[in-house]
Amino acid sequence: MNQSLPSLQKLIRHLQKVPYLASKNVYRVASYFLTTDVEVIATLCQAILEAKQNIVPCQICFNWTEAGLRCSICSSAGRDQGVVCVVETWHDLMAIERTAGFVGCYHVLGGALNPLEGIGPDQLSLGALMQRLTNGQVREIILGTNPTPEGEATANYLATKIHPLNIIVSKFASGIPTGASLEFMDKITISKALIGRTPF
Ligand SMILES: [Zn+2]
Repeated sequence: MNQSLPSLQKLIRHLQKVPYLASKNVYRVASYFLTTDVEVIATLCQAILEAKQNIVPCQICFNWTEAGLRCSICSSAGRDQGVVCVVETWHDLMAIERTAGFVGCYHVLGGALNPLEGIGPDQLSLGALMQRLTNGQVREIILGTNPTPEGEATANYLATKIHPLNIIVSKFASGIPTGASLEFMDKITISKALIGRTPF
């Protein structure tokens, strides 16, 4: 890059640190910022800061919340607190919510077990989940981890831990392709997998 543009180089360096921003798009995004009104950019920066400052994990399920300690799902009288679907990420939670057919609650693990990447039980919210299961309120755990090797390993780990607690453990029906992520599944596939869930 032209060495006489240190500010642009700095911007590109920071954009390159943003996950999911494809390398080719980094230059397009930088161009967009440079050609857009400064007020629009200021509003965008403010929105990012506000979201970062105001949104925290729910103390029960680790969904995002802006309204205090509990998220809107954990605080809702219309949700069955006795059925908890365990998912890897907030994106997976949102994929299930988009089906509008699940009336239970969630537990967001924050990822899946992956020893090669240094992700063990302590790096996920597994301890909080096990603590949550001690109050006797939860009667069914639906393992909604993704059908990847890491997701399956996490589901097996959880099943081993939860079975002795006398809580029903079920798993999404087959239909979600192996290696896929819930995040990218269509609503009908997820609904069918949830409705047809089987003991695990
Ligand atoms: Zn919650």
